[in-house]
Amino acid sequence: MVSAASGDVSSRLAELRKRFAERATDDLKALEQRAQLLEGEGADGAVLADVCSRLHRLAGSAGTFGFPELGQAARSLENMLEARADDGSLQEASSLAVERILALRTMLESPPLPAQVTNDESAQGAVERPEGSHGVRVRVLIVPAGKTDPQWLDKALAAYGFDCQVRHETDPELIAVLAGELQTATVILCASVRIEGVIRARDASPSDQVRRLPVVCLSEDLSFGSRYRVAALGADGFFGRSPDLSELAERIEYLALERSTRVHGRVVLVEDDLELAEHYALVLRAAGVDVLWVNDPMQLMSELSSFQPDILLMDVQLGQYSGVTLARMVRFDPQWLSLPIIYLSSEDDPDSQLEALSRGADEFLMKPVSDSYLVRAVLIRCFRARQLSRLMNRDSLTGLLKHSLIKQEVEKELARCRRDGHAASAVMVDLDHFKKINDTYGHRCGDVVIKALANTLRNRLRETDMIGRYGGEEFLVVLPHCDTEAARRLFTEIAEAFGQLTFNCNQETFGVTLSAGVAAINDHSVGDDAVDAADQALYQRKRAGRNGVTVAGDE
Ligand code: GH3
Ligand code: MG
Ligand code: MG
Repeated sequence: MVSAASGDVSSRLAELRKRFAERATDDLKALEQRAQLLEGEGADGAVLADVCSRLHRLAGSAGTFGFPELGQAARSLENMLEARADDGSLQEASSLAVERILALRTMLESPPLPAQVTNDESAQGAVERPEGSHGVRVRVLIVPAGKTDPQWLDKALAAYGFDCQVRHETDPELIAVLAGELQTATVILCASVRIEGVIRARDASPSDQVRRLPVVCLSEDLSFGSRYRVAALGADGFFGRSPDLSELAERIEYLALERSTRVHGRVVLVEDDLELAEHYALVLRAAGVDVLWVNDPMQLMSELSSFQPDILLMDVQLGQYSGVTLARMVRFDPQWLSLPIIYLSSEDDPDSQLEALSRGADEFLMKPVSDSYLVRAVLIRCFRARQLSRLMNRDSLTGLLKHSLIKQEVEKELARCRRDGHAASAVMVDLDHFKKINDTYGHRCGDVVIKALANTLRNRLRETDMIGRYGGEEFLVVLPHCDTEAARRLFTEIAEAFGQLTFNCNQETFGVTLSAGVAAINDHSVGDDAVDAADQALYQRKRAGRNGVTVAGDE
Protein backbone atom coordinates (compact mmCIF):
# COMPACT_ATOMS: atom_id res chain seq x y z
CA MET A 1 0.00 0.00 0.00
CA VAL A 2 2.88 2.31 0.84
CA SER A 3 4.63 1.68 -2.45
CA ALA A 4 1.41 1.89 -4.44
CA ALA A 5 0.66 5.25 -2.88
CA SER A 6 4.17 6.66 -3.31
CA GLY A 7 4.32 5.20 -6.83
CA ASP A 8 1.18 7.09 -7.62
CA VAL A 9 2.63 10.32 -6.24
CA SER A 10 5.87 9.83 -8.21
CA SER A 11 4.09 9.26 -11.47
CA ARG A 12 1.87 12.28 -10.94
CA LEU A 13 4.92 14.40 -10.11
CA ALA A 14 6.59 13.14 -13.31
CA GLU A 15 3.47 14.05 -15.30
CA LEU A 16 3.61 17.59 -13.86
CA ARG A 17 7.26 17.89 -14.92
CA LYS A 18 6.33 16.98 -18.46
CA ARG A 19 3.62 19.62 -18.49
CA PHE A 20 6.04 22.17 -17.11
CA ALA A 21 8.62 21.40 -19.82
CA GLU A 22 6.00 21.89 -22.54
CA ARG A 23 4.88 25.17 -21.09
CA ALA A 24 8.46 26.38 -20.63
CA THR A 25 9.24 25.54 -24.27
CA ASP A 26 6.38 27.83 -25.34
CA ASP A 27 7.56 30.51 -22.95
CA LEU A 28 11.07 30.39 -24.34
CA LYS A 29 9.81 30.67 -27.94
CA ALA A 30 7.83 33.76 -26.99
CA LEU A 31 10.84 35.15 -25.15
CA GLU A 32 13.04 34.76 -28.25
CA GLN A 33 10.55 36.70 -30.38
CA ARG A 34 10.30 39.49 -27.80
CA ALA A 35 14.07 39.61 -27.52
CA GLN A 36 14.39 40.40 -31.25
CA LEU A 37 12.06 43.35 -30.60
CA LEU A 38 14.27 44.54 -27.76
CA GLU A 39 17.21 44.61 -30.15
CA GLY A 40 15.33 46.51 -32.82
CA GLU A 41 13.57 49.84 -32.54
CA GLY A 42 10.21 48.30 -31.57
CA ALA A 43 11.06 47.82 -27.91
CA ASP A 44 8.64 49.56 -25.58
CA GLY A 45 7.65 49.20 -21.93
CA ALA A 46 5.00 46.58 -22.66
CA VAL A 47 7.50 44.26 -24.37
CA LEU A 48 9.94 44.59 -21.51
CA ALA A 49 7.20 43.94 -18.92
CA ASP A 50 6.13 40.83 -20.79
CA VAL A 51 9.72 39.53 -21.01
CA CYS A 52 10.28 40.15 -17.32
CA SER A 53 7.05 38.49 -16.26
CA ARG A 54 7.83 35.34 -18.26
CA LEU A 55 11.35 35.23 -16.83
CA HIS A 56 9.91 35.73 -13.35
CA ARG A 57 7.59 32.78 -13.74
CA LEU A 58 10.42 30.56 -14.96
CA ALA A 59 12.63 31.69 -12.09
CA GLY A 60 9.99 30.68 -9.56
CA SER A 61 9.05 27.32 -11.01
CA ALA A 62 11.92 25.76 -13.01
CA GLY A 63 13.79 24.63 -9.90
CA THR A 64 10.76 22.82 -8.54
CA PHE A 65 10.42 20.81 -11.74
CA GLY A 66 14.08 19.74 -11.95
CA PHE A 67 15.71 22.64 -13.85
CA PRO A 68 17.42 24.71 -11.13
CA GLU A 69 20.06 26.09 -13.52
CA LEU A 70 17.35 27.39 -15.86
CA GLY A 71 15.58 29.01 -12.91
CA GLN A 72 18.69 30.78 -11.69
CA ALA A 73 19.64 31.98 -15.18
CA ALA A 74 16.12 33.34 -15.71
CA ARG A 75 16.24 35.19 -12.40
CA SER A 76 19.61 36.79 -13.06
CA LEU A 77 18.51 37.82 -16.57
CA GLU A 78 15.32 39.36 -15.18
CA ASN A 79 17.33 41.31 -12.60
CA MET A 80 19.78 42.47 -15.28
CA LEU A 81 17.01 43.70 -17.62
CA GLU A 82 15.24 45.57 -14.83
CA ALA A 83 18.47 47.26 -13.76
CA ARG A 84 19.27 48.26 -17.37
CA ALA A 85 15.77 49.59 -17.90
CA ASP A 86 16.11 51.67 -14.74
CA ASP A 87 19.36 53.32 -15.77
CA GLY A 88 18.31 53.69 -19.43
CA SER A 89 20.94 51.38 -20.91
CA LEU A 90 18.60 48.64 -22.06
CA GLN A 91 19.29 49.15 -25.76
CA GLU A 92 23.02 48.49 -25.32
CA ALA A 93 22.36 45.31 -23.33
CA SER A 94 19.82 43.86 -25.75
CA SER A 95 22.19 41.66 -27.79
CA LEU A 96 23.51 40.19 -24.56
CA ALA A 97 19.88 39.56 -23.54
CA VAL A 98 19.11 37.72 -26.78
CA GLU A 99 22.22 35.58 -26.32
CA ARG A 100 21.22 34.69 -22.78
CA ILE A 101 17.64 33.86 -23.74
CA LEU A 102 18.97 31.46 -26.39
CA ALA A 103 21.12 29.87 -23.70
CA LEU A 104 17.99 29.20 -21.62
CA ARG A 105 16.75 26.90 -24.38
CA THR A 106 19.81 24.62 -24.00
CA MET A 107 19.22 24.43 -20.28
CA LEU A 108 15.70 23.21 -20.83
CA GLU A 109 16.94 20.59 -23.29
CA SER A 110 19.34 19.01 -20.81
CA PRO A 111 17.69 16.24 -18.80
CA PRO A 112 16.01 17.42 -15.57
CA LEU A 113 17.30 16.43 -12.13
CA PRO A 114 15.53 13.31 -10.88
CA ALA A 115 12.42 14.01 -8.81
CA GLN A 116 13.04 13.80 -5.08
CA VAL A 117 11.48 10.70 -3.65
CA THR A 118 8.56 12.06 -1.73
CA ASN A 119 8.18 10.52 1.66
CA ASP A 120 4.76 9.04 1.79
CA GLU A 121 5.36 7.39 5.08
CA SER A 122 4.45 10.16 7.48
CA ALA A 123 1.09 10.38 5.75
CA GLN A 124 0.66 6.68 6.34
CA GLY A 125 1.55 7.28 9.96
CA ALA A 126 -1.07 9.98 10.18
CA VAL A 127 -3.74 7.66 8.95
CA GLU A 128 -2.81 4.43 10.66
CA ARG A 129 -1.13 5.52 13.86
CA PRO A 130 -2.86 8.44 15.44
CA GLU A 131 -0.83 8.81 18.62
CA GLY A 132 -0.76 11.00 21.65
CA SER A 133 -3.61 13.05 23.03
CA HIS A 134 -6.22 10.45 23.73
CA GLY A 135 -7.22 7.56 21.58
CA VAL A 136 -4.52 5.05 20.73
CA ARG A 137 -2.21 4.20 23.60
CA VAL A 138 1.20 5.78 23.80
CA ARG A 139 3.87 3.07 23.43
CA VAL A 140 7.03 3.55 25.47
CA LEU A 141 10.11 1.53 24.57
CA ILE A 142 12.28 1.20 27.70
CA VAL A 143 16.00 0.41 27.39
CA PRO A 144 17.49 -0.01 30.90
CA ALA A 145 21.21 0.02 31.75
CA GLY A 146 21.31 -3.78 31.99
CA LYS A 147 19.49 -6.87 33.18
CA THR A 148 20.05 -5.97 36.81
CA ASP A 149 18.48 -2.57 36.37
CA PRO A 150 15.40 -2.34 38.56
CA GLN A 151 12.16 -3.13 36.79
CA TRP A 152 9.76 -0.82 38.54
CA LEU A 153 9.58 1.82 35.83
CA ASP A 154 7.54 -0.06 33.24
CA LYS A 155 4.90 -1.06 35.77
CA ALA A 156 4.76 2.41 37.22
CA LEU A 157 4.33 3.97 33.78
CA ALA A 158 1.77 1.35 32.81
CA ALA A 159 -0.36 2.66 35.65
CA TYR A 160 -0.49 5.99 33.81
CA GLY A 161 -1.94 4.17 30.83
CA PHE A 162 1.26 3.85 28.78
CA ASP A 163 1.97 0.66 26.89
CA CYS A 164 5.53 -0.27 27.94
CA GLN A 165 8.07 -2.61 26.29
CA VAL A 166 11.42 -3.34 27.99
CA ARG A 167 14.55 -4.36 25.97
CA HIS A 168 17.81 -5.33 27.70
CA GLU A 169 20.06 -6.13 24.79
CA THR A 170 23.51 -4.63 24.84
CA ASP A 171 24.88 -2.48 22.06
CA PRO A 172 25.87 -4.94 19.31
CA GLU A 173 22.51 -6.71 19.37
CA LEU A 174 20.54 -3.60 20.09
CA ILE A 175 20.31 -2.27 16.57
CA ALA A 176 18.88 -5.49 15.15
CA VAL A 177 16.41 -6.01 17.96
CA LEU A 178 15.30 -2.43 18.15
CA ALA A 179 14.58 -2.16 14.44
CA GLY A 180 11.31 -4.01 14.94
CA GLU A 181 10.34 -2.41 18.24
CA LEU A 182 11.00 1.08 16.99
CA GLN A 183 8.34 0.74 14.32
CA THR A 184 5.57 0.70 16.90
CA ALA A 185 7.07 2.93 19.59
CA THR A 186 5.94 6.47 20.34
CA VAL A 187 8.71 7.46 22.72
CA ILE A 188 12.01 5.82 23.76
CA LEU A 189 13.02 5.94 27.40
CA CYS A 190 16.60 4.85 27.95
CA ALA A 191 19.41 4.72 30.49
CA SER A 192 22.23 7.15 29.78
CA VAL A 193 24.78 4.33 29.26
CA ARG A 194 22.60 3.01 26.42
CA ILE A 195 21.77 6.26 24.74
CA GLU A 196 24.49 6.19 22.06
CA GLY A 197 23.46 2.71 20.93
CA VAL A 198 19.79 3.57 20.98
CA ILE A 199 20.21 6.75 18.95
CA ARG A 200 22.44 4.91 16.48
CA ALA A 201 19.75 2.26 16.06
CA ARG A 202 17.07 4.88 15.63
CA ASP A 203 19.03 6.91 13.09
CA ALA A 204 19.91 3.79 11.10
CA SER A 205 16.26 3.18 10.35
CA PRO A 206 15.15 3.72 6.77
CA SER A 207 11.88 5.09 8.07
CA ASP A 208 11.48 8.81 8.54
CA GLN A 209 8.88 8.21 11.21
CA VAL A 210 11.32 6.12 13.27
CA ARG A 211 14.21 8.57 12.89
CA ARG A 212 11.98 11.24 14.43
CA LEU A 213 11.21 9.15 17.55
CA PRO A 214 11.83 11.23 20.65
CA VAL A 215 14.32 9.87 23.21
CA VAL A 216 14.12 10.57 26.94
CA CYS A 217 17.24 9.78 28.94
CA LEU A 218 17.45 8.64 32.57
CA SER A 219 20.83 9.33 34.13
CA GLU A 220 22.50 8.79 37.48
CA ASP A 221 24.86 11.64 36.76
CA LEU A 222 23.02 14.94 36.93
CA SER A 223 26.07 17.13 36.27
CA PHE A 224 26.25 19.78 33.57
CA GLY A 225 28.69 17.61 31.59
CA SER A 226 26.33 14.65 31.62
CA ARG A 227 23.32 16.75 30.57
CA TYR A 228 25.35 18.43 27.85
CA ARG A 229 26.46 15.08 26.43
CA VAL A 230 22.86 13.82 26.31
CA ALA A 231 21.63 17.06 24.73
CA ALA A 232 24.41 16.89 22.11
CA LEU A 233 23.28 13.39 21.18
CA GLY A 234 19.88 14.86 20.40
CA ALA A 235 17.77 13.59 23.30
CA ASP A 236 14.43 15.25 24.00
CA GLY A 237 14.29 14.86 27.76
CA PHE A 238 16.58 14.28 30.74
CA PHE A 239 15.62 12.87 34.14
CA GLY A 240 17.39 11.42 37.17
CA ARG A 241 17.49 7.68 37.87
CA SER A 242 14.48 7.92 40.20
CA PRO A 243 12.38 10.48 38.37
CA ASP A 244 9.24 12.11 39.63
CA LEU A 245 6.84 9.79 37.87
CA SER A 246 4.13 12.30 37.13
CA GLU A 247 6.66 14.69 35.62
CA LEU A 248 8.09 11.89 33.52
CA ALA A 249 4.60 10.79 32.46
CA GLU A 250 3.79 14.35 31.55
CA ARG A 251 6.92 14.72 29.42
CA ILE A 252 6.17 11.47 27.60
CA GLU A 253 2.62 12.65 27.01
CA TYR A 254 3.84 15.99 25.68
CA LEU A 255 6.34 14.37 23.30
CA ALA A 256 3.67 11.96 22.05
CA LEU A 257 1.31 14.83 21.49
CA GLU A 258 3.93 16.88 19.66
CA ARG A 259 4.74 13.90 17.50
CA SER A 260 1.15 13.32 16.54
CA THR A 261 0.41 16.97 15.87
CA ARG A 262 3.42 17.20 13.62
CA VAL A 263 1.82 15.06 10.96
CA HIS A 264 -1.37 17.03 10.78
CA GLY A 265 -2.02 20.42 9.37
CA ARG A 266 -4.48 22.27 7.24
CA VAL A 267 -3.26 24.61 4.57
CA VAL A 268 -5.01 26.88 2.12
CA LEU A 269 -2.80 27.38 -0.93
CA VAL A 270 -3.39 30.40 -3.16
CA GLU A 271 -1.41 29.95 -6.38
CA ASP A 272 -2.39 30.74 -9.94
CA ASP A 273 0.24 28.59 -11.60
CA LEU A 274 -1.61 25.33 -12.19
CA GLU A 275 1.42 23.01 -12.38
CA LEU A 276 3.10 24.56 -9.35
CA ALA A 277 -0.10 24.41 -7.30
CA GLU A 278 -0.61 20.77 -8.17
CA HIS A 279 3.01 20.01 -7.35
CA TYR A 280 2.89 21.72 -3.94
CA ALA A 281 -0.42 20.08 -3.09
CA LEU A 282 0.87 16.61 -4.03
CA VAL A 283 4.04 16.99 -2.00
CA LEU A 284 2.22 18.36 1.06
CA ARG A 285 -0.55 15.78 0.94
CA ALA A 286 2.05 13.02 0.74
CA ALA A 287 3.39 14.38 4.04
CA GLY A 288 -0.01 14.20 5.72
CA VAL A 289 -1.10 17.81 5.28
CA ASP A 290 -4.65 18.66 4.21
CA VAL A 291 -4.41 21.11 1.33
CA LEU A 292 -7.13 23.22 -0.20
CA TRP A 293 -6.08 24.92 -3.41
CA VAL A 294 -7.76 28.22 -4.21
CA ASN A 295 -7.00 29.49 -7.67
CA ASP A 296 -9.59 32.25 -7.79
CA PRO A 297 -8.77 34.94 -5.19
CA MET A 298 -12.43 36.02 -5.24
CA GLN A 299 -13.28 32.74 -3.50
CA LEU A 300 -10.56 33.11 -0.86
CA MET A 301 -12.64 34.47 2.03
CA SER A 302 -15.42 31.91 1.76
CA GLU A 303 -12.92 29.05 1.34
CA LEU A 304 -11.05 30.18 4.46
CA SER A 305 -14.27 30.13 6.49
CA SER A 306 -15.32 26.69 5.43
CA PHE A 307 -11.86 25.05 5.50
CA GLN A 308 -10.50 26.67 8.72
CA PRO A 309 -6.80 26.27 7.88
CA ASP A 310 -3.86 26.43 10.28
CA ILE A 311 -1.89 28.52 7.82
CA LEU A 312 -2.29 30.29 4.49
CA LEU A 313 0.30 29.81 1.75
CA MET A 314 0.06 32.66 -0.70
CA ASP A 315 1.70 33.38 -4.03
CA VAL A 316 2.81 37.02 -4.38
CA GLN A 317 1.82 37.51 -8.02
CA LEU A 318 -1.63 36.19 -8.83
CA GLY A 319 -2.44 37.43 -12.32
CA GLN A 320 -4.32 40.70 -11.89
CA TYR A 321 -4.29 40.38 -8.09
CA SER A 322 -1.50 40.98 -5.63
CA GLY A 323 -0.93 38.48 -2.83
CA VAL A 324 0.27 41.36 -0.65
CA THR A 325 -3.06 43.15 -0.96
CA LEU A 326 -5.01 39.93 -0.45
CA ALA A 327 -3.12 39.32 2.80
CA ARG A 328 -4.15 42.74 4.05
CA MET A 329 -7.73 42.03 3.04
CA VAL A 330 -7.72 38.72 4.92
CA ARG A 331 -6.68 40.60 8.05
CA PHE A 332 -9.76 42.84 7.78
CA ASP A 333 -11.67 39.91 9.23
CA PRO A 334 -10.97 39.64 12.98
CA GLN A 335 -11.31 35.86 12.70
CA TRP A 336 -8.08 35.79 10.67
CA LEU A 337 -6.03 38.32 12.60
CA SER A 338 -3.71 35.64 13.92
CA LEU A 339 -3.72 33.31 10.90
CA PRO A 340 -0.09 32.77 9.83
CA ILE A 341 0.32 33.89 6.22
CA ILE A 342 3.34 32.69 4.30
CA TYR A 343 4.28 34.05 0.90
CA LEU A 344 5.58 31.81 -1.81
CA SER A 345 7.60 34.35 -3.68
CA SER A 346 10.15 34.56 -6.45
CA GLU A 347 10.81 38.08 -5.24
CA ASP A 348 14.43 38.11 -4.10
CA ASP A 349 14.48 41.84 -3.51
CA PRO A 350 14.67 42.37 0.28
CA ASP A 351 12.88 45.74 0.03
CA SER A 352 9.75 44.35 -1.53
CA GLN A 353 9.82 41.48 0.96
CA LEU A 354 9.88 43.93 3.83
CA GLU A 355 7.08 45.89 2.24
CA ALA A 356 4.99 42.71 2.04
CA LEU A 357 5.79 41.78 5.63
CA SER A 358 4.64 45.16 6.85
CA ARG A 359 1.33 44.56 5.14
CA GLY A 360 0.42 41.56 7.18
CA ALA A 361 2.25 38.43 6.04
CA ASP A 362 4.41 36.54 8.44
CA GLU A 363 7.12 35.01 6.34
CA PHE A 364 8.62 34.29 2.94
CA LEU A 365 9.48 31.05 1.28
CA MET A 366 11.64 31.75 -1.73
CA LYS A 367 10.68 30.01 -4.96
CA PRO A 368 11.91 27.61 -6.06
CA VAL A 369 11.42 25.93 -2.73
CA SER A 370 12.61 22.35 -2.41
CA ASP A 371 9.99 19.72 -1.60
CA SER A 372 11.54 18.74 1.71
CA TYR A 373 11.93 22.37 2.78
CA LEU A 374 8.33 23.13 1.88
CA VAL A 375 7.09 20.17 3.90
CA ARG A 376 9.20 21.04 6.95
CA ALA A 377 8.35 24.72 6.83
CA VAL A 378 4.64 23.99 6.57
CA LEU A 379 4.56 21.29 9.26
CA ILE A 380 6.47 23.42 11.75
CA ARG A 381 4.19 26.40 11.20
CA CYS A 382 1.06 24.29 11.44
CA PHE A 383 2.36 22.83 14.67
CA ARG A 384 3.04 26.27 16.13
CA ALA A 385 -0.34 27.57 15.03
CA ARG A 386 -2.00 24.64 16.74
CA GLN A 387 0.01 25.14 19.89
CA LEU A 388 -1.17 28.72 19.96
CA SER A 389 -4.81 27.85 19.61
CA ARG A 390 -4.30 25.20 22.28
CA LEU A 391 -3.02 27.94 24.55
CA MET A 392 -6.17 29.93 23.99
CA ASN A 393 -8.72 27.11 24.32
CA ARG A 394 -6.99 24.89 26.81
CA ASP A 395 -6.31 25.04 30.48
CA SER A 396 -2.62 25.72 31.07
CA LEU A 397 -2.08 23.26 33.92
CA THR A 398 -3.64 20.21 32.27
CA GLY A 399 -3.90 21.00 28.55
CA LEU A 400 -7.58 20.04 28.71
CA LEU A 401 -10.51 22.06 27.38
CA LYS A 402 -11.52 25.03 29.45
CA HIS A 403 -14.78 25.14 31.41
CA SER A 404 -16.90 26.97 28.84
CA LEU A 405 -15.66 24.83 25.94
CA ILE A 406 -16.41 21.48 27.58
CA LYS A 407 -19.89 22.75 28.45
CA GLN A 408 -20.40 23.58 24.78
CA GLU A 409 -19.31 20.04 23.94
CA VAL A 410 -22.12 18.67 26.14
CA GLU A 411 -24.62 20.79 24.20
CA LYS A 412 -23.21 19.67 20.85
CA GLU A 413 -23.29 16.03 21.89
CA LEU A 414 -26.91 16.39 23.01
CA ALA A 415 -27.79 17.75 19.56
CA ARG A 416 -26.02 14.78 17.93
CA CYS A 417 -27.89 12.34 20.19
CA ARG A 418 -31.19 13.87 19.12
CA ARG A 419 -30.24 13.66 15.47
CA ASP A 420 -28.83 10.12 15.41
CA GLY A 421 -30.61 8.59 18.41
CA HIS A 422 -27.44 7.25 20.06
CA ALA A 423 -26.67 7.23 23.80
CA ALA A 424 -23.96 9.40 25.33
CA SER A 425 -22.75 9.96 28.89
CA ALA A 426 -21.44 12.91 30.87
CA VAL A 427 -19.06 12.10 33.72
CA MET A 428 -18.10 14.49 36.50
CA VAL A 429 -14.84 13.52 38.22
CA ASP A 430 -13.51 14.98 41.48
CA LEU A 431 -10.44 14.14 43.58
CA ASP A 432 -11.13 12.86 47.10
CA HIS A 433 -10.03 14.87 50.12
CA PHE A 434 -7.90 17.01 47.94
CA LYS A 435 -7.76 19.87 50.42
CA LYS A 436 -5.81 17.57 52.71
CA ILE A 437 -3.26 16.83 49.95
CA ASN A 438 -2.68 20.55 49.47
CA ASP A 439 -2.48 21.15 53.20
CA THR A 440 -0.09 18.26 53.87
CA TYR A 441 2.24 18.38 50.85
CA GLY A 442 1.77 21.87 49.47
CA HIS A 443 -0.02 23.35 46.50
CA ARG A 444 2.70 22.36 44.03
CA CYS A 445 2.32 18.69 44.88
CA GLY A 446 -1.42 19.19 44.51
CA ASP A 447 -0.81 20.48 41.00
CA VAL A 448 1.20 17.37 40.15
CA VAL A 449 -1.75 15.20 41.21
CA ILE A 450 -4.15 17.21 39.04
CA LYS A 451 -1.84 16.80 36.04
CA ALA A 452 -1.53 13.07 36.69
CA LEU A 453 -5.31 12.75 36.64
CA ALA A 454 -5.47 14.69 33.36
CA ASN A 455 -2.84 12.35 31.84
CA THR A 456 -4.63 9.25 33.06
CA LEU A 457 -7.88 10.43 31.50
CA ARG A 458 -6.18 11.26 28.21
CA ASN A 459 -4.50 7.89 28.06
CA ARG A 460 -7.56 5.87 28.89
CA LEU A 461 -10.20 7.60 26.79
CA ARG A 462 -10.91 7.45 23.07
CA GLU A 463 -9.98 10.13 20.55
CA THR A 464 -13.65 11.01 20.17
CA ASP A 465 -14.22 11.52 23.90
CA MET A 466 -13.92 15.06 25.19
CA ILE A 467 -12.25 16.03 28.44
CA GLY A 468 -12.41 19.40 30.16
CA ARG A 469 -11.16 20.89 33.39
CA TYR A 470 -14.44 21.97 34.89
CA GLY A 471 -13.11 23.55 38.07
CA GLY A 472 -10.06 23.31 40.35
CA GLU A 473 -9.80 19.55 40.77
CA GLU A 474 -13.03 18.71 38.96
CA PHE A 475 -13.13 17.30 35.44
CA LEU A 476 -16.02 16.87 33.04
CA VAL A 477 -15.88 14.14 30.40
CA VAL A 478 -18.22 13.65 27.43
CA LEU A 479 -18.45 10.08 26.11
CA PRO A 480 -20.31 9.84 22.77
CA HIS A 481 -21.82 6.47 21.84
CA CYS A 482 -21.47 5.23 25.41
CA ASP A 483 -24.40 4.37 27.69
CA THR A 484 -24.22 4.89 31.44
CA GLU A 485 -23.37 1.24 32.21
CA ALA A 486 -20.41 1.28 29.83
CA ALA A 487 -19.37 4.61 31.36
CA ARG A 488 -19.62 3.07 34.84
CA ARG A 489 -17.33 0.17 33.84
CA LEU A 490 -14.84 2.50 32.17
CA PHE A 491 -14.59 4.88 35.11
CA THR A 492 -14.43 2.07 37.63
CA GLU A 493 -11.27 0.92 35.83
CA ILE A 494 -9.92 4.45 35.64
CA ALA A 495 -10.58 5.04 39.35
CA GLU A 496 -8.74 1.80 40.20
CA ALA A 497 -5.74 2.63 38.03
CA PHE A 498 -5.55 6.16 39.39
CA GLY A 499 -5.86 4.97 42.98
CA GLN A 500 -2.79 2.76 42.44
CA LEU A 501 -0.54 5.63 41.39
CA THR A 502 2.03 6.69 43.95
CA PHE A 503 3.11 10.28 44.21
CA ASN A 504 6.43 11.40 45.65
CA CYS A 505 6.53 14.83 47.21
CA ASN A 506 9.08 16.13 49.70
CA GLN A 507 10.44 12.61 50.25
CA GLU A 508 6.97 11.36 51.15
CA THR A 509 4.90 8.86 49.21
CA PHE A 510 1.14 8.98 49.00
CA GLY A 511 -1.84 7.99 46.90
CA VAL A 512 -5.04 9.78 45.96
CA THR A 513 -8.45 8.41 44.99
CA LEU A 514 -11.19 9.88 42.84
CA SER A 515 -14.98 9.85 42.71
CA ALA A 516 -17.09 10.02 39.57
CA GLY A 517 -20.75 10.71 38.81
CA VAL A 518 -22.31 9.55 35.54
CA ALA A 519 -25.45 10.80 33.76
CA ALA A 520 -27.01 10.05 30.39
CA ILE A 521 -26.78 13.13 28.16
CA ASN A 522 -29.63 11.87 25.96
CA ASP A 523 -32.03 11.75 28.96
CA HIS A 524 -32.11 15.54 29.22
CA SER A 525 -33.50 18.36 27.14
CA VAL A 526 -30.66 20.80 27.86
CA GLY A 527 -26.97 20.07 28.34
CA ASP A 528 -26.82 21.91 31.66
CA ASP A 529 -29.35 19.50 33.16
CA ALA A 530 -27.17 16.53 32.18
CA VAL A 531 -24.18 18.21 33.82
CA ASP A 532 -26.21 18.87 36.97
CA ALA A 533 -27.33 15.24 37.08
CA ALA A 534 -23.71 14.04 36.80
CA ASP A 535 -22.77 16.49 39.54
CA GLN A 536 -25.51 15.17 41.84
CA ALA A 537 -24.43 11.58 41.18
CA LEU A 538 -20.89 12.63 42.09
CA TYR A 539 -22.00 14.02 45.44
CA GLN A 540 -24.04 10.92 46.10
CA ARG A 541 -20.77 9.02 45.59
CA LYS A 542 -18.96 11.34 47.97
CA ARG A 543 -21.57 10.70 50.66
CA ALA A 544 -21.41 6.96 50.03
CA GLY A 545 -17.70 6.85 50.85
CA ARG A 546 -15.89 8.24 47.78
CA ASN A 547 -13.37 6.26 45.63
CA GLY A 548 -15.68 4.92 42.92
CA VAL A 549 -18.48 5.61 40.47
CA THR A 550 -22.18 6.41 40.91
CA VAL A 551 -24.68 6.60 38.06
CA ALA A 552 -27.57 9.08 38.29
CA GLY A 553 -30.62 7.12 39.45
CA ASP A 554 -28.58 4.51 41.37
CA GLU A 555 -30.06 3.57 44.74
P1 GH3 B 1 -13.99 15.94 48.57
O1 GH3 B 1 -13.50 14.53 48.66
O2 GH3 B 1 -15.30 16.13 49.24
O3 GH3 B 1 -14.01 16.42 47.16
O4 GH3 B 1 -12.94 16.80 49.39
P2 GH3 B 1 -11.99 17.92 48.85
O5 GH3 B 1 -10.99 18.20 49.89
O6 GH3 B 1 -11.44 17.53 47.53
O7 GH3 B 1 -12.99 19.13 48.76
P3 GH3 B 1 -13.19 20.21 47.65
O8 GH3 B 1 -13.49 19.57 46.34
O9 GH3 B 1 -14.20 21.17 48.17
O10 GH3 B 1 -11.80 20.97 47.61
C1 GH3 B 1 -11.09 21.18 46.47
C2 GH3 B 1 -9.77 21.78 46.78
O11 GH3 B 1 -8.94 21.76 45.62
C3 GH3 B 1 -9.86 23.22 47.20
C4 GH3 B 1 -8.71 23.90 46.50
O12 GH3 B 1 -7.79 24.42 47.40
C5 GH3 B 1 -8.04 22.82 45.71
N1 GH3 B 1 -7.70 23.26 44.39
C6 GH3 B 1 -8.52 23.78 43.46
N2 GH3 B 1 -7.83 24.07 42.32
C7 GH3 B 1 -6.55 23.73 42.55
C8 GH3 B 1 -5.34 23.79 41.76
O13 GH3 B 1 -5.31 24.22 40.60
N3 GH3 B 1 -4.19 23.33 42.33
C9 GH3 B 1 -4.18 22.83 43.59
N4 GH3 B 1 -3.03 22.39 44.07
N5 GH3 B 1 -5.29 22.78 44.35
C10 GH3 B 1 -6.46 23.22 43.84
MG1 MG C 1 -12.53 17.08 45.83
MG1 MG D 1 -14.00 19.81 44.16
